[in-house]
Amino acid sequence: MPPQIYLDSNATNAVLPQAVAAAREVMEQRYGNPSSTHLAGLRAKALLEAVRERAVRVLGAGDGRLMFNSGATEGIHTAVLSALVDLRERRDAGRPIGRWLVYGATEHKAVPESLAHWNRLLGLDLDILALPVDGEGRHDLARLRALAPDTALLCTMAANNETGVISDLVGIEQCLLASGSAALWLVDGVQALGKLPLKLAATRIDYAPFSGHKLYAPKGIGLLYVRAGAPFTPLMVGGGQEAGWRSGTENMAGIAALGAVLAALDDGQTFRSLPQLAAWRDQIAAALINAFPGLCFNTPFDKSLPTTLNFSVPGLASQELLNLFDAAGLRVSAGSACSSGRAEPSPVLEAMQMPLWRSASAIRLSFGPRVDPATIAAACDAIARCGRALQSGRATAQVGDNDVAAVAVESAVDMAIADTPSLDGFLHRHPDTLLVDVREPYEHDAGGGLRMLGFTALNVPMARLSAHAERWLLLPSPPLVFICKSGRRGHQAAAWMRDRGHAQAWFLAGGLTALGA
Ligand code: PLP
Repeated sequence: MPPQIYLDSNATNAVLPQAVAAAREVMEQRYGNPSSTHLAGLRAKALLEAVRERAVRVLGAGDGRLMFNSGATEGIHTAVLSALVDLRERRDAGRPIGRWLVYGATEHKAVPESLAHWNRLLGLDLDILALPVDGEGRHDLARLRALAPDTALLCTMAANNETGVISDLVGIEQCLLASGSAALWLVDGVQALGKLPLKLAATRIDYAPFSGHKLYAPKGIGLLYVRAGAPFTPLMVGGGQEAGWRSGTENMAGIAALGAVLAALDDGQTFRSLPQLAAWRDQIAAALINAFPGLCFNTPFDKSLPTTLNFSVPGLASQELLNLFDAAGLRVSAGSACSSGRAEPSPVLEAMQMPLWRSASAIRLSFGPRVDPATIAAACDAIARCGRALQSGRATAQVGDNDVAAVAVESAVDMAIADTPSLDGFLHRHPDTLLVDVREPYEHDAGGGLRMLGFTALNVPMARLSAHAERWLLLPSPPLVFICKSGRRGHQAAAWMRDRGHAQAWFLAGGLTALGA
């Protein structure tokens, strides 16, 4: 299998080695509870406060508060709860609060879901409204100006996770200031951390949530900025940690690791500069254009993070492209949610009024500020290989009878080979086995063919299965093991062969994924 080239940093990242070391030290040696009053506890408390101080500096939090939590989803919930409790109290006291809870139409799902959740639970019944964005994914400021005087809470992100589009936070702030709006303002800073300069206390922002794992800290540690004087209600009460703002014993390993990441941000050496990242983005963009004629980028580079590319290729659904990239070792993500092989258009691109073919075939490729030139070069090579594989696959593709896909597949149990040891054993017992890779030719070729345990797989895509079946049904027929990416197509192929009387048809459950490939 080709080596993995991880280009899905907007989803998550490997943990920075310094952060692993810091977490390890805390888990093995400095494991005190910061609430304990003995020396081990005091040391833990000192570490925690030192990380907080650094975070205050890095984020320009000034006299605002930075609290540790589990990540951005918790931060968003805490901020929305705080704002809505305050709005309810103000309304109960007979003060005007505005009518709208406004969120950017391309916000992460956690924002509208949280607004709906707390609006309902607190019985506020305010109207929730998505603020439209333009074709470049930027907020409609004219609309915001009109809504601002009657807005109770505004939620906008600093940069979008799918497209990398950077919001015009200065423009948004001006809309609020010019109208004298009393709206509370939440800015989701998740994708901006480490990629955009943030001086939170110099803005009108009331709440800003962050997730450590988007910038090489582990999952499960995050930060919430709360402006000095902004309303606050804890999401969790109990032992009174974090000055009563967030109870529960602190995640000291996560905090230490986050501290190491913030120190790396401070040292100016560990992470690449924005111009360097932009140059690498352009290199990848050139490789993509070369490999896929007709490819369009879905966001303007000059208004996006230099670490995110979102693109569509005419005639190829997200899942097909994902399979192709995956086979070449490139780990990217579908811009659209795929369920049961059917691509749902991306809500973010739909909000940008993209044509359906683009929103249903979008791919997001993202890297982090710690990427190195070797990874970029390997990515460009793999992209070129994908382009070549796709072109040769298309040139030789024939319209086969697709009835295989229509087979009603019943229980997989009798046909499934569960894992690598079972496959190993099977191949030892049946050395005449024919391994059949039922992925598309371009997936097979992009990975340089499929060899495992000394066997070389024959590539027979599903649409060509019936053309081969006749030969396989002749006696003596070899045992067949069908392999694909996830096991789904392999299962269909084995069921189809058994339907035709080939009792020795099997498939690898979980596909290549099960082999850890
Ligand atoms: N906001 C944005 C912009 C994100 O990209 C994400 C995660 O993808 C979140 C919020 C939620 O973060 P988490 O899942 O770490 O809580």
